[in-house]
Amino acid sequence: MPERVIPLVDQRFAALAAGVPQRAIPATGLLLDQLRRPLRDLRISVTDRCNFRCNYCMPKEVFDKDHAFLPHSALLTFEEITRVARQFVAHGVRKIRLTGGEPLLRKNIEALVEQLSQLRTVDGQPLDLTLTTNGSLLARKARALKAAGLQRVTVSLDALDDAIFRRMNDVDFPVADVLNGITAAQDAGLGPVKINMVVKRGTNDHEILPMAHRFKGTGLVLRFIEFMDVGATNRWRMDEVVPSAEVVERIHRELPLVQLDPSAPGETAERWGYADGTGEIGVISSVTQAFCGDCNRARLSTEGQLYLCLFASRGHDLRPLVRGDAARGIAPASDAELASAIAQVWQGRADRYSQLRASMAPDEDHGERRVEMSYIGG
Ligand code: SAM
Repeated sequence: MPERVIPLVDQRFAALAAGVPQRAIPATGLLLDQLRRPLRDLRISVTDRCNFRCNYCMPKEVFDKDHAFLPHSALLTFEEITRVARQFVAHGVRKIRLTGGEPLLRKNIEALVEQLSQLRTVDGQPLDLTLTTNGSLLARKARALKAAGLQRVTVSLDALDDAIFRRMNDVDFPVADVLNGITAAQDAGLGPVKINMVVKRGTNDHEILPMAHRFKGTGLVLRFIEFMDVGATNRWRMDEVVPSAEVVERIHRELPLVQLDPSAPGETAERWGYADGTGEIGVISSVTQAFCGDCNRARLSTEGQLYLCLFASRGHDLRPLVRGDAARGIAPASDAELASAIAQVWQGRADRYSQLRASMAPDEDHGERRVEMSYIGG
Protein backbone atom coordinates (compact mmCIF):
# COMPACT_ATOMS: atom_id res chain seq x y z
CA MET A 1 0.00 0.00 0.00
CA PRO A 2 1.36 3.45 -0.80
CA GLU A 3 2.64 5.41 2.13
CA ARG A 4 0.21 8.13 3.15
CA VAL A 5 1.67 11.62 3.48
CA ILE A 6 0.16 13.59 6.33
CA PRO A 7 1.01 17.28 6.24
CA LEU A 8 2.28 18.46 9.62
CA VAL A 9 1.57 22.10 8.93
CA ASP A 10 -1.07 23.37 6.56
CA GLN A 11 0.99 25.79 4.50
CA ARG A 12 -2.11 27.50 3.29
CA PHE A 13 -2.34 29.21 6.66
CA ALA A 14 1.36 29.80 7.16
CA ALA A 15 1.52 32.95 5.05
CA LEU A 16 3.16 36.17 6.09
CA ALA A 17 0.73 39.06 6.37
CA ALA A 18 1.37 41.59 3.61
CA GLY A 19 1.54 45.01 5.20
CA VAL A 20 0.94 48.49 3.87
CA PRO A 21 4.24 50.40 3.96
CA GLN A 22 4.29 53.69 5.83
CA ARG A 23 5.43 55.53 2.75
CA ALA A 24 3.26 54.86 -0.30
CA ILE A 25 4.92 53.17 -3.28
CA PRO A 26 2.99 54.51 -6.26
CA ALA A 27 2.55 52.32 -9.34
CA THR A 28 4.71 53.57 -12.18
CA GLY A 29 4.50 50.58 -14.51
CA LEU A 30 7.97 49.39 -13.56
CA LEU A 31 8.60 47.54 -10.35
CA LEU A 32 11.98 45.88 -9.76
CA ASP A 33 12.91 43.24 -7.21
CA GLN A 34 16.23 42.86 -5.38
CA LEU A 35 17.78 41.29 -8.48
CA ARG A 36 16.37 44.04 -10.72
CA ARG A 37 13.77 41.74 -12.26
CA PRO A 38 10.60 43.55 -13.34
CA LEU A 39 7.10 42.32 -12.50
CA ARG A 40 5.44 41.40 -15.81
CA ASP A 41 3.54 38.15 -15.48
CA LEU A 42 0.79 37.18 -13.02
CA ARG A 43 -0.60 33.69 -12.59
CA ILE A 44 -3.88 33.50 -10.77
CA SER A 45 -5.13 30.27 -9.27
CA VAL A 46 -8.92 30.32 -9.27
CA THR A 47 -9.50 26.99 -7.53
CA ASP A 48 -7.47 24.42 -5.63
CA ARG A 49 -9.74 21.62 -6.93
CA CYS A 50 -9.15 19.45 -9.95
CA ASN A 51 -11.03 16.58 -11.57
CA PHE A 52 -7.73 14.84 -12.47
CA ARG A 53 -5.35 13.17 -10.05
CA CYS A 54 -2.08 13.28 -12.02
CA ASN A 55 0.40 11.61 -9.72
CA TYR A 56 3.09 14.23 -10.34
CA CYS A 57 0.73 16.97 -9.18
CA MET A 58 -2.25 15.81 -7.08
CA PRO A 59 -1.61 12.18 -6.18
CA LYS A 60 -4.77 10.30 -5.29
CA GLU A 61 -3.50 9.00 -1.98
CA VAL A 62 -3.05 12.57 -0.72
CA PHE A 63 -5.84 14.40 -2.51
CA ASP A 64 -8.50 11.88 -1.55
CA LYS A 65 -12.05 12.26 -0.25
CA ASP A 66 -10.72 13.34 3.14
CA HIS A 67 -8.56 16.11 1.73
CA ALA A 68 -9.68 19.53 2.99
CA PHE A 69 -10.02 21.74 -0.05
CA LEU A 70 -10.63 25.41 0.57
CA PRO A 71 -14.18 26.41 1.52
CA HIS A 72 -15.85 28.70 -0.99
CA SER A 73 -15.82 31.61 1.46
CA ALA A 74 -12.00 31.49 1.50
CA LEU A 75 -11.67 32.03 -2.25
CA LEU A 76 -11.21 35.50 -3.59
CA THR A 77 -14.36 36.55 -5.44
CA PHE A 78 -14.08 37.58 -9.10
CA GLU A 79 -14.37 41.23 -8.08
CA GLU A 80 -11.59 40.80 -5.51
CA ILE A 81 -9.37 39.02 -8.05
CA THR A 82 -9.93 41.75 -10.61
CA ARG A 83 -9.19 44.46 -8.09
CA VAL A 84 -5.92 42.84 -7.09
CA ALA A 85 -5.04 42.16 -10.74
CA ARG A 86 -5.63 45.84 -11.57
CA GLN A 87 -2.92 46.84 -9.08
CA PHE A 88 -0.52 44.32 -10.59
CA VAL A 89 -1.22 45.67 -14.05
CA ALA A 90 -0.53 49.20 -12.81
CA HIS A 91 2.88 47.90 -11.66
CA GLY A 92 3.68 46.66 -15.16
CA VAL A 93 2.05 43.23 -15.52
CA ARG A 94 1.22 42.50 -19.15
CA LYS A 95 0.26 38.87 -19.05
CA ILE A 96 -2.26 37.09 -16.84
CA ARG A 97 -2.70 33.35 -16.82
CA LEU A 98 -5.64 31.73 -15.04
CA THR A 99 -4.79 28.38 -13.57
CA GLY A 100 -5.39 26.14 -10.59
CA GLY A 101 -6.35 23.31 -9.78
CA GLU A 102 -8.51 23.08 -12.86
CA PRO A 103 -9.65 26.64 -13.66
CA LEU A 104 -12.63 25.53 -15.74
CA LEU A 105 -14.12 23.95 -12.61
CA ARG A 106 -14.63 27.41 -11.11
CA LYS A 107 -18.26 28.26 -11.66
CA ASN A 108 -18.89 30.95 -14.25
CA ILE A 109 -15.18 31.50 -14.92
CA GLU A 110 -16.21 33.37 -18.08
CA ALA A 111 -17.39 36.24 -15.88
CA LEU A 112 -13.88 36.60 -14.43
CA VAL A 113 -12.35 36.45 -17.90
CA GLU A 114 -14.69 39.22 -18.98
CA GLN A 115 -13.68 41.43 -16.05
CA LEU A 116 -9.96 40.84 -16.56
CA SER A 117 -10.22 41.43 -20.30
CA GLN A 118 -11.29 45.01 -19.59
CA LEU A 119 -7.94 45.81 -17.92
CA ARG A 120 -5.33 47.69 -19.93
CA THR A 121 -1.56 47.67 -19.53
CA VAL A 122 0.20 50.89 -18.55
CA ASP A 123 0.65 51.68 -22.22
CA GLY A 124 -3.02 51.15 -22.95
CA GLN A 125 -2.81 47.71 -24.53
CA PRO A 126 -5.08 44.74 -23.80
CA LEU A 127 -3.49 42.15 -21.56
CA ASP A 128 -2.18 38.88 -22.87
CA LEU A 129 -4.94 36.90 -21.16
CA THR A 130 -4.58 33.16 -21.16
CA LEU A 131 -5.54 30.04 -19.24
CA THR A 132 -4.02 26.63 -18.56
CA THR A 133 -6.43 23.70 -18.47
CA ASN A 134 -6.49 19.92 -18.52
CA GLY A 135 -8.91 20.27 -21.44
CA SER A 136 -11.64 18.10 -19.94
CA LEU A 137 -14.27 20.85 -20.08
CA LEU A 138 -12.85 22.81 -22.97
CA ALA A 139 -15.10 21.45 -25.72
CA ARG A 140 -18.05 22.81 -23.75
CA LYS A 141 -16.51 26.12 -22.77
CA ALA A 142 -14.17 27.27 -25.54
CA ARG A 143 -16.63 29.53 -27.36
CA ALA A 144 -17.89 31.23 -24.22
CA LEU A 145 -14.33 31.83 -23.03
CA LYS A 146 -13.40 33.41 -26.34
CA ALA A 147 -16.53 35.56 -26.31
CA ALA A 148 -15.64 36.71 -22.79
CA GLY A 149 -12.25 37.95 -24.00
CA LEU A 150 -9.83 35.10 -23.41
CA GLN A 151 -7.06 35.19 -25.99
CA ARG A 152 -5.31 31.83 -25.76
CA VAL A 153 -5.27 28.53 -23.94
CA THR A 154 -2.62 26.04 -22.97
CA VAL A 155 -3.85 22.46 -22.67
CA SER A 156 -2.04 19.80 -20.67
CA LEU A 157 -1.75 16.44 -22.39
CA ASP A 158 0.85 13.90 -21.32
CA ALA A 159 0.32 11.10 -23.85
CA LEU A 160 -1.58 10.12 -26.97
CA ASP A 161 -1.71 6.50 -25.93
CA ASP A 162 -5.08 6.24 -24.22
CA ALA A 163 -4.02 3.68 -21.62
CA ILE A 164 -0.99 5.72 -20.58
CA PHE A 165 -2.99 8.94 -20.44
CA ARG A 166 -5.77 7.36 -18.36
CA ARG A 167 -3.15 5.99 -15.96
CA MET A 168 -1.39 9.34 -15.65
CA ASN A 169 -4.53 11.38 -14.99
CA ASP A 170 -5.60 8.57 -12.62
CA VAL A 171 -9.31 9.19 -13.13
CA ASP A 172 -9.56 7.15 -16.34
CA PHE A 173 -10.13 10.22 -18.50
CA PRO A 174 -9.82 9.48 -22.26
CA VAL A 175 -7.37 11.21 -24.62
CA ALA A 176 -10.10 11.67 -27.23
CA ASP A 177 -12.03 14.12 -25.05
CA VAL A 178 -8.95 16.29 -24.51
CA LEU A 179 -8.23 16.25 -28.25
CA ASN A 180 -11.84 17.37 -28.85
CA GLY A 181 -11.26 20.20 -26.40
CA ILE A 182 -8.13 21.25 -28.27
CA THR A 183 -10.01 21.28 -31.57
CA ALA A 184 -12.81 23.30 -30.01
CA ALA A 185 -10.28 25.83 -28.71
CA GLN A 186 -8.71 26.16 -32.16
CA ASP A 187 -12.13 26.53 -33.80
CA ALA A 188 -13.11 29.19 -31.28
CA GLY A 189 -9.98 31.21 -32.11
CA LEU A 190 -8.15 30.60 -28.83
CA GLY A 191 -4.87 30.09 -30.63
CA PRO A 192 -2.07 29.55 -30.96
CA VAL A 193 -3.00 26.69 -28.64
CA LYS A 194 -0.07 25.33 -26.66
CA ILE A 195 0.11 21.75 -25.40
CA ASN A 196 2.00 21.00 -22.18
CA MET A 197 3.44 17.52 -21.78
CA VAL A 198 5.13 16.65 -18.48
CA VAL A 199 7.71 13.98 -19.26
CA LYS A 200 8.48 11.25 -16.73
CA ARG A 201 11.10 8.67 -17.56
CA GLY A 202 9.65 5.19 -17.71
CA THR A 203 6.08 6.51 -17.64
CA ASN A 204 5.50 8.48 -20.83
CA ASP A 205 8.91 9.31 -22.35
CA HIS A 206 8.23 6.90 -25.23
CA GLU A 207 5.33 9.22 -26.12
CA ILE A 208 7.71 12.10 -26.94
CA LEU A 209 8.01 11.22 -30.63
CA PRO A 210 4.36 10.25 -31.23
CA MET A 211 3.35 13.57 -29.66
CA ALA A 212 5.86 15.48 -31.82
CA HIS A 213 4.58 13.76 -34.99
CA ARG A 214 0.94 14.32 -34.04
CA PHE A 215 1.26 18.08 -33.53
CA LYS A 216 3.91 18.93 -36.15
CA GLY A 217 2.41 21.05 -38.89
CA THR A 218 -0.86 21.69 -37.04
CA GLY A 219 -0.13 25.18 -35.75
CA LEU A 220 -0.22 23.82 -32.20
CA VAL A 221 2.90 24.38 -30.10
CA LEU A 222 3.92 21.32 -28.10
CA ARG A 223 5.99 22.02 -24.98
CA PHE A 224 7.84 19.38 -23.04
CA ILE A 225 8.12 20.08 -19.31
CA GLU A 226 10.69 18.48 -17.06
CA PHE A 227 9.08 16.67 -14.12
CA MET A 228 9.61 19.21 -11.35
CA ASP A 229 10.18 18.90 -7.63
CA VAL A 230 7.29 21.21 -6.78
CA GLY A 231 5.24 20.65 -3.65
CA ALA A 232 5.89 17.90 -1.17
CA THR A 233 3.62 15.07 -2.21
CA ASN A 234 4.62 13.93 -5.70
CA ARG A 235 7.54 11.69 -4.71
CA TRP A 236 9.84 13.48 -7.13
CA ARG A 237 13.01 11.66 -8.12
CA MET A 238 15.77 12.97 -10.32
CA ASP A 239 16.01 9.66 -12.18
CA GLU A 240 12.46 10.21 -13.45
CA VAL A 241 13.40 13.55 -14.99
CA VAL A 242 14.12 13.50 -18.72
CA PRO A 243 16.40 16.49 -19.32
CA SER A 244 15.13 18.82 -22.05
CA ALA A 245 18.43 18.38 -23.89
CA GLU A 246 17.60 14.70 -24.24
CA VAL A 247 14.07 15.47 -25.46
CA VAL A 248 15.45 17.79 -28.13
CA GLU A 249 18.06 15.23 -29.15
CA ARG A 250 15.52 12.42 -29.44
CA ILE A 251 13.23 14.52 -31.65
CA HIS A 252 16.09 16.02 -33.66
CA ARG A 253 17.32 12.56 -34.66
CA GLU A 254 14.04 11.89 -36.45
CA LEU A 255 12.66 15.38 -37.11
CA PRO A 256 15.54 17.88 -37.50
CA LEU A 257 15.28 20.98 -35.31
CA VAL A 258 16.89 24.41 -35.24
CA GLN A 259 17.01 26.64 -32.17
CA LEU A 260 14.83 29.78 -32.29
CA ASP A 261 15.14 33.08 -30.45
CA PRO A 262 13.08 33.53 -27.28
CA SER A 263 9.72 35.21 -27.96
CA ALA A 264 9.89 37.44 -24.86
CA PRO A 265 12.25 38.06 -21.94
CA GLY A 266 11.47 35.81 -18.99
CA GLU A 267 9.80 33.20 -21.24
CA THR A 268 9.84 29.81 -19.56
CA ALA A 269 10.16 27.76 -22.75
CA GLU A 270 13.22 27.47 -24.96
CA ARG A 271 11.98 27.39 -28.57
CA TRP A 272 13.01 24.95 -31.29
CA GLY A 273 11.68 25.04 -34.86
CA TYR A 274 11.33 22.13 -37.26
CA ALA A 275 14.03 22.60 -39.90
CA ASP A 276 11.43 22.07 -42.64
CA GLY A 277 9.47 25.09 -41.38
CA THR A 278 6.42 23.14 -40.21
CA GLY A 279 6.15 24.65 -36.76
CA GLU A 280 7.91 24.67 -33.43
CA ILE A 281 8.19 22.96 -30.06
CA GLY A 282 9.24 24.30 -26.66
CA VAL A 283 11.14 22.78 -23.77
CA ILE A 284 10.78 23.92 -20.19
CA SER A 285 13.83 22.97 -18.18
CA SER A 286 13.27 24.21 -14.68
CA VAL A 287 15.22 21.28 -13.24
CA THR A 288 18.27 21.01 -15.50
CA GLN A 289 18.61 24.63 -16.56
CA ALA A 290 17.59 27.24 -14.07
CA PHE A 291 15.85 30.28 -15.44
CA CYS A 292 15.55 32.43 -12.35
CA GLY A 293 17.70 35.25 -13.75
CA ASP A 294 14.90 36.85 -15.69
CA CYS A 295 11.89 35.40 -13.84
CA ASN A 296 9.24 38.09 -13.88
CA ARG A 297 6.32 36.02 -12.54
CA ALA A 298 4.20 36.41 -9.45
CA ARG A 299 1.50 33.98 -8.36
CA LEU A 300 -1.75 34.75 -6.60
CA SER A 301 -3.22 31.77 -4.76
CA THR A 302 -6.91 30.93 -4.71
CA GLU A 303 -7.36 32.64 -1.36
CA GLY A 304 -5.27 35.70 -2.08
CA GLN A 305 -1.72 34.88 -1.08
CA LEU A 306 1.03 36.30 -3.19
CA TYR A 307 3.83 33.84 -3.98
CA LEU A 308 7.10 34.95 -5.52
CA CYS A 309 8.37 31.56 -6.63
CA LEU A 310 6.83 28.22 -7.62
CA PHE A 311 9.09 26.59 -5.05
CA ALA A 312 8.21 28.94 -2.20
CA SER A 313 6.99 27.66 1.12
CA ARG A 314 5.31 30.87 2.19
CA GLY A 315 3.12 33.44 0.56
CA HIS A 316 2.23 36.99 1.51
CA ASP A 317 -1.40 37.26 2.46
CA LEU A 318 -3.21 40.00 0.57
CA ARG A 319 -6.73 38.92 1.48
CA PRO A 320 -6.96 40.80 4.79
CA LEU A 321 -6.09 43.98 2.88
CA VAL A 322 -8.56 43.23 0.10
CA ARG A 323 -11.41 42.24 2.37
CA GLY A 324 -10.81 44.07 5.61
CA ASP A 325 -12.47 42.59 8.68
CA ALA A 326 -15.91 43.99 9.38
CA ALA A 327 -16.19 42.10 12.70
CA ARG A 328 -13.08 43.88 13.99
CA GLY A 329 -13.97 47.19 12.38
CA ILE A 330 -11.09 46.99 9.87
CA ALA A 331 -11.90 48.54 6.50
CA PRO A 332 -10.50 47.12 3.26
CA ALA A 333 -7.29 48.79 2.08
CA SER A 334 -7.60 51.45 -0.61
CA ASP A 335 -6.31 50.68 -4.10
CA ALA A 336 -3.24 52.84 -3.42
CA GLU A 337 -2.54 50.92 -0.18
CA LEU A 338 -2.99 47.59 -1.93
CA ALA A 339 -0.63 48.65 -4.72
CA SER A 340 1.94 49.78 -2.14
CA ALA A 341 1.69 46.47 -0.27
CA ILE A 342 2.25 44.51 -3.49
CA ALA A 343 5.18 46.75 -4.39
CA GLN A 344 6.79 46.25 -1.00
CA VAL A 345 6.61 42.47 -1.35
CA TRP A 346 8.01 42.48 -4.90
CA GLN A 347 10.77 44.93 -4.02
CA GLY A 348 11.93 42.56 -1.28
CA ARG A 349 12.02 39.54 -3.61
CA ALA A 350 15.35 37.74 -3.98
CA ASP A 351 14.11 34.18 -4.73
CA ARG A 352 16.14 32.08 -7.14
CA TYR A 353 15.39 28.60 -6.00
CA SER A 354 15.98 26.75 -9.28
CA GLN A 355 19.43 28.27 -9.61
CA LEU A 356 20.41 27.47 -6.03
CA ARG A 357 18.97 23.96 -6.15
CA ALA A 358 21.95 22.67 -8.10
CA SER A 359 24.30 23.47 -5.26
CA MET A 360 22.02 22.19 -2.48
CA ALA A 361 22.16 18.83 -0.82
CA PRO A 362 18.90 16.88 -1.18
CA ASP A 363 16.29 18.15 1.30
CA GLU A 364 18.42 21.14 2.20
CA ASP A 365 16.16 23.83 0.88
CA HIS A 366 14.01 26.12 2.95
CA GLY A 367 13.71 23.69 5.83
CA GLU A 368 9.97 24.22 5.33
CA ARG A 369 7.42 22.23 3.43
CA ARG A 370 6.91 23.57 -0.09
CA VAL A 371 3.48 24.64 -1.17
CA GLU A 372 1.59 22.46 -3.66
CA MET A 373 1.32 23.51 -7.30
CA SER A 374 -2.43 22.81 -7.31
CA TYR A 375 -2.79 25.47 -4.61
CA ILE A 376 -0.68 28.29 -6.02
CA GLY A 377 -1.28 27.46 -9.65
CA GLY A 378 1.06 25.97 -12.24
N1 SAM B 1 -5.37 21.88 -14.28
C1 SAM B 1 -4.68 22.68 -15.23
C2 SAM B 1 -3.85 21.83 -16.14
O1 SAM B 1 -3.93 20.61 -16.05
O2 SAM B 1 -3.16 22.37 -17.00
C3 SAM B 1 -3.86 23.82 -14.65
C4 SAM B 1 -3.05 23.57 -13.43
S1 SAM B 1 -1.68 22.49 -13.64
C5 SAM B 1 -0.96 22.56 -12.01
C6 SAM B 1 -0.60 23.46 -14.66
C7 SAM B 1 0.52 22.72 -15.33
O3 SAM B 1 1.45 22.28 -14.38
C8 SAM B 1 0.10 21.50 -16.12
O4 SAM B 1 0.60 21.58 -17.42
C9 SAM B 1 0.77 20.37 -15.36
O5 SAM B 1 1.08 19.31 -16.20
C10 SAM B 1 1.98 21.05 -14.79
N2 SAM B 1 2.55 20.34 -13.64
C11 SAM B 1 1.95 19.97 -12.51
N3 SAM B 1 2.82 19.34 -11.68
C12 SAM B 1 4.01 19.32 -12.32
C13 SAM B 1 5.30 18.80 -11.99
N4 SAM B 1 5.55 18.17 -10.85
N5 SAM B 1 6.28 18.98 -12.89
C14 SAM B 1 6.07 19.61 -14.06
N6 SAM B 1 4.88 20.12 -14.41
C15 SAM B 1 3.86 19.97 -13.57
